[in-house]
Amino acid sequence: MQVTEVNTKQATQQAWNKRPLIISGPCSAETEEQVLETAVRLHETGKVDMLRAGIWKPRTRPGSFEGIGTKGLPWLQKAKQITGLPVMVEVATGKQVEDALHFEVDVLWIGARTTVNPFSVQDVADALRGADIPVLVKNPINPDLELWTGAVERVAKAGIKQLGLIHRGFSSYGNTEYRNAPMWHLAIEMKRRNPELMMINDPSHICGRRDILLDVAQKAIDLDYDGLMIESHIDPDNAWSDAKQQVTPERLAEMLNSIRWRKEDVASEEFHAAMEKMRQQINHLDDELMQILSQRMKVAEQIGQYKKDNNITILQTNRWNSILERATAKGEKLGLSKEFITKYFDAVHMESINHQNKIMND
Ligand code: PEP
Ligand code: MN
Repeated sequence: MQVTEVNTKQATQQAWNKRPLIISGPCSAETEEQVLETAVRLHETGKVDMLRAGIWKPRTRPGSFEGIGTKGLPWLQKAKQITGLPVMVEVATGKQVEDALHFEVDVLWIGARTTVNPFSVQDVADALRGADIPVLVKNPINPDLELWTGAVERVAKAGIKQLGLIHRGFSSYGNTEYRNAPMWHLAIEMKRRNPELMMINDPSHICGRRDILLDVAQKAIDLDYDGLMIESHIDPDNAWSDAKQQVTPERLAEMLNSIRWRKEDVASEEFHAAMEKMRQQINHLDDELMQILSQRMKVAEQIGQYKKDNNITILQTNRWNSILERATAKGEKLGLSKEFITKYFDAVHMESINHQNKIMND
């Protein structure tokens, strides 16, 4: 091993064990100059532990920038030589793993569109066999903890010892304030099931926009995540991918400065810290419940319109009875009392009728 190689391994280990671990860099490597300037400016903030850059970009629609490919890997090597920052890229195929290992990438991650596909994950895992490199696994695009777990298991079975998770949110149909709904409770459950794996939050892909990045990052820190991965670009508006969600390295530093980092647990504060965490979880779940309720009311409005067009009554007793029956049976299985379910559905029903009423009498 060369001296630089040993140093890089040490730097990677140091970063991997640091809390909070801060990862940043462009969504995509675009040009050598862009990669190097981003790396230098991130390094100058003194707040970033690893440099990320997408080299191969799985894009939802064809025609978007699909990544610079292998020729970008030497740019990352150079960025590492200049700044000392360990570098990480996304891999989606065995060939990409081979190329990344060949160009001494320090950490790999598996993207959300790959985690959903066991064939792809297995291909990546097979290429990883025998390699000594940390790997982070993003959640799948759909809210399925089994797929996420399966991907982690495939990589672990290939002999990878240093494994972690990245929570980047889940895609949902229709407009919400997020590009990918965080569904915090799923990440929390994943963490509960795998306490030994580090959990990184990716506010960039959750938000899809700059203005709420800090809010999501703060939530993640409040929920005791191990670190953050936030995309940064020297000229965010003109980024070749994910322009709306990237921030300059300097803005990133400002954001990191304004986050309220959780205090070290000291014995006397343990109780309060635990309470605060549970209350935060309650708040997040309540926020999600309200989002879902609002979606439900929108559907009720569509139904209202449909009934109006067909000139039928709002209240249809049979339908309501069947909703209640279904809900109380389901609620009981979930540990919710019949009394609560009845009260809750009465309130939801009233609100729904009000929404429909408004539509019908508009
Ligand atoms: C990315 O990190 O740039 C990326 C493509 O993310 P995801 O897999 O979460 O969509
Ligand atoms: Mn991106």
